[in-house]
Amino acid sequence: MAILIDGKKTAAEIKEELKKEIQSLISEGKQVPGLVTILVGENPASQSYVTSKSKSCIEIGMLSKVERLSESVREAELLKLIEQYNKDESYHGILVQLPLPAHISEQKVIEAIDPKKDVDGFHPINVGNLLIGNKTLYPCTPYGIVELLKRYNIPTTGKHVVVVGRSNIVGKPVANLLVQKKEGANAIVTICHSAEKDLSKYILTADILIAAMGKANFITAEMVREGTVVIDVGINRVQDKNTAKGYRIVGDVDFENVEKKASYITPVPGGVGPMTIAMLLKNTFQAYQNYPTGK
Ligand code: NAP
Repeated sequence: MAILIDGKKTAAEIKEELKKEIQSLISEGKQVPGLVTILVGENPASQSYVTSKSKSCIEIGMLSKVERLSESVREAELLKLIEQYNKDESYHGILVQLPLPAHISEQKVIEAIDPKKDVDGFHPINVGNLLIGNKTLYPCTPYGIVELLKRYNIPTTGKHVVVVGRSNIVGKPVANLLVQKKEGANAIVTICHSAEKDLSKYILTADILIAAMGKANFITAEMVREGTVVIDVGINRVQDKNTAKGYRIVGDVDFENVEKKASYITPVPGGVGPMTIAMLLKNTFQAYQNYPTGK
């Protein structure tokens, strides 16, 4: 039976570490890190993400502000607001909650954020720095995965990591983080995507599997070999009449059966998910430390 990788507990530890750092800043009379989150429209999932991000900031003593804009806001208006926060010395991190309405270019918005304040790590400058192995602001979910491996002392050097999914927010950055010639990385990485019809061919050779597909329970026990470390990034809703909401959240991995073969496994919920917010806070703290007046 696999050892459970407890993302909730690890995220709480990271938050506690950051809280202590912020408390010492406060006791020295220094400015605290600040995060502004910009939410466009009323997508319920986005609203709930933004609320948890803001709540987490406040819990650890960070300054938090949420800007709520209407669904019909013009792109130019959003870009102007970003520009305002690029100059605002109280806020070291800017996060625009995605997805955005179709009339707004996400890429333009991402590129409008000062890379030094880009705590989502999506700006091409930060993506490029990640790729060439420079210390930078990393995308939060991939950063959280690497941190989980590190905190559970799971070796990566020379290990075969199979990433299923090649999105810009999970698959590609986690693969690029793990392939770097660095401690806590240095892995042999394979990226799979939907052009491969027989994923087992790759997954059966994995020491570490990172599933980021968005397909409920897709990866079954037959596809995984004994002793694999399984990191499940997927967040999928499946109907469940026995719950009050009528659905429950599951990952991309058939947890119940795969945990019998894996050496380590992340649950969904409670695995990678909570780490994403913890790493956002860590990035905001990092952005603050990098900021000229933030010391
Ligand atoms: P995405 O942009 O939809 O990308 C999914 C990737 O999976 C694509 O590269 C796709 O291949 C690949 N894929 C889909 N079906 C496949 C199949 N049958 N075989 C092989 N590859 C397949 O999704 P994402 O944004 O990366 O998110 C992935 C999952 O992680 C979602 O469930 C999302 O909700 C979750 N997520 C969780 C967190 C967290 O904090 N825990 C954060 C972000 C995302 P193609 O490129 O060929 O289409």
